[in-house]
Amino acid sequence: MGGQPMFILSEDSERTHGQDAQSSNISAGKAVAESVRTTLGPRGMDKMLVSDSGDVVITNDGATILEQMDIEHPAAQMIVEVASTQEEEVGDGTTTASVLAGQLLGKAEDLLEDDVHPTTIVEGYHEASRMALEAIEAAGLTGDLDDDLLQQVAESSMTGKGTGDIDAGALAETVVGAIRQVETDDGVQRDNVTVRTQTGAGASATELVSGVISEEEPVHGNMPRSVTDADVAVLDCDLDLREANIDAEYNVTDVDQLNAALDAEEGELREYAEALKSAGVDAAFVTGDIEDRVASFLAKDGILAFESVDDDEAKRIARATGARTAGSVKDLEADDLGFAETVRVEKYADDELTFVEGGANAETVTVFARGGTEHVADELERALNDALDVVTASLDEGGVVPGAGATEIAIADHIRSEAASVDGRKQLAVEAFADAVDVIPRTLAENTGMDPIDALVDLRKRHDEEGVAGLISEEQSGRVGDPIEAGVIDPAAVKREAVESATEAATMIARIDDVISAN
Ligand code: ADP
Ligand code: MG
Repeated sequence: MGGQPMFILSEDSERTHGQDAQSSNISAGKAVAESVRTTLGPRGMDKMLVSDSGDVVITNDGATILEQMDIEHPAAQMIVEVASTQEEEVGDGTTTASVLAGQLLGKAEDLLEDDVHPTTIVEGYHEASRMALEAIEAAGLTGDLDDDLLQQVAESSMTGKGTGDIDAGALAETVVGAIRQVETDDGVQRDNVTVRTQTGAGASATELVSGVISEEEPVHGNMPRSVTDADVAVLDCDLDLREANIDAEYNVTDVDQLNAALDAEEGELREYAEALKSAGVDAAFVTGDIEDRVASFLAKDGILAFESVDDDEAKRIARATGARTAGSVKDLEADDLGFAETVRVEKYADDELTFVEGGANAETVTVFARGGTEHVADELERALNDALDVVTASLDEGGVVPGAGATEIAIADHIRSEAASVDGRKQLAVEAFADAVDVIPRTLAENTGMDPIDALVDLRKRHDEEGVAGLISEEQSGRVGDPIEAGVIDPAAVKREAVESATEAATMIARIDDVISAN
C-alpha cells in the first residue's frame, strides 16, 4: 500500500499475487466508490463528466457517473457493476450501493491486516447481510401506500438533483399520477410510462400526457398539423419504389416509352397513398422511407405521415393506439389500424414534437418535462425516471422505509446487537459490516456540512429513544429528526438491493488473491 499512487484508469497489468493482489483490488474498488460519495443525498454535489469527444454530462446520479468514467481496473469495474445492477433492479440507490461496497472493502482490508482470513470475512459479511435484511423488513412502514406517501417517496428521490427551478412537489404529483394510470392487477406496467424532455421552459412546466410524444416530424410541409378521431397505421416498411424496379434498366427508344415507364413508376407510388386512403388512415407512422412523391400524394389526401420512425417509438405508438404493425401497405387491413383522439404536431423552438393522445389503449402515458437547458433537461429526465422507478418499487416490491439514513442506523444497530451471538473471528467481520453501513448517515451529515461524528452519536441516541432517527436535510443545514414526519421515505427494495449487491461485490473482491491479466 504505502504512498503508491493508484492508477485505476491505466491499462498496464500482468500478474499480482496474494496480499498485493488483494490490496490493489481493494484500493481500486474503494477509490471508485469514494469518487461518488460527495454526491449522496439532497445536499450532494454534482459531477461534470467530459468524454473523449468533448461531450459534457452534469449529473448527481451514481450510475451515470460510474458509467461515464472510463474505468479499467477489473476490481473497480465490479463497483461500477454494483451501480448498474442497482439501476436495473430498482432504478435508484446507486450511490448508496457503491458507497457501501467501498466501505465494506475498506473494512475488509483492516480485517485482512489483522490476519482475519478472507473466508471468515466473507462468511461474516454474508451473515451480517442477512441481519441487515431483517432490519430493513422491521423498519418498513405499515399502513396504506396512499398517494401522499408515494409522492413523498418520489420527492425524496428527486431532491438534490440539479434540475434548476424544480418544484419537486409538483413533479412528484405528476409521477404518482402517471404510475396510477399504468397500475394493473399484475402490478405496475412501468414500461407504459415514458419520460420526454424538451428544453425551453422551466422544469415547472411539466405535464402528464395520456399517450405518446414522438420526436418525429411530418414528412411533408403541406400535411395537416393535427388530426382528430384518427385511425392510425404503424408500418414497418418503405413507401418507396420496390428494390427490383430501382435496379431495372429501361430500354427506351422513344419518348412515349419513357413516359410509359415513368407513369408506371408514378402509378406504383400513387398506389401507396391510395391504399392508405382507402383503408381510412388519418395518420401513418412508417419505420422506413417515404418517397417524396408518395409524401405529396399523402399530403393531398390530408394524411399525416412520418418516416424513419424509431423502432421503439413505433412500438410505443402501436401499443398506445392499439394498432398492429403491418409489414407492408398491401398487408394493411382495417383492423390493423389503431385509434387516437388526436395526433398533433407542436413546435418548440427548433424542434417539432408529435403528440399521439387519447389512444385506444389509454394506459400509455408520457411525463412531458421541460428544462431550461439541455443539461437541466437531461438531469431532469434521469430524476423523473428514478422517481417513477421508486414509486413502482414501493408498490410492487415490498413497501417503504424511513430515509435520511434512518434505516441504515437501524441496520447497524440490529447487526451490533446480534453480533454477540456470532462465534469466533467471524464476529469481527459482522461488526465491521455494521461500521460500514454507518457510512450512509455519516456521508449525509458530511454533505450537509455537519460534523459526522457528532451526528452519528446524536442519531444513535435518538434511535435508542424513539426507534427511528434520520438526518433531515433542510434549506441551510441538517438536523436529527423523524424522517417519517419530515416525509423522507425510500422504497425498501432500494435498501435491500443495495445491501445485497454491495455485499456480493465486496466479498467477491476480498476473496481474490491472484490477478492474471492478458494485455
Ligand atoms: P442514491 O444514488 O443512493 O439514490 P441520492 O443522492 O439520491 O443517492 O441520495 C439518496 C439518499 O438521500 C437516501 O438515503 C435518502 O433517504 C436521502 N434523502 C433524500 N431526501 C432527504 C432529505 N430531505 N434529508 C435527508 N436525506 C434525504
Ligand atoms: Mg437517489
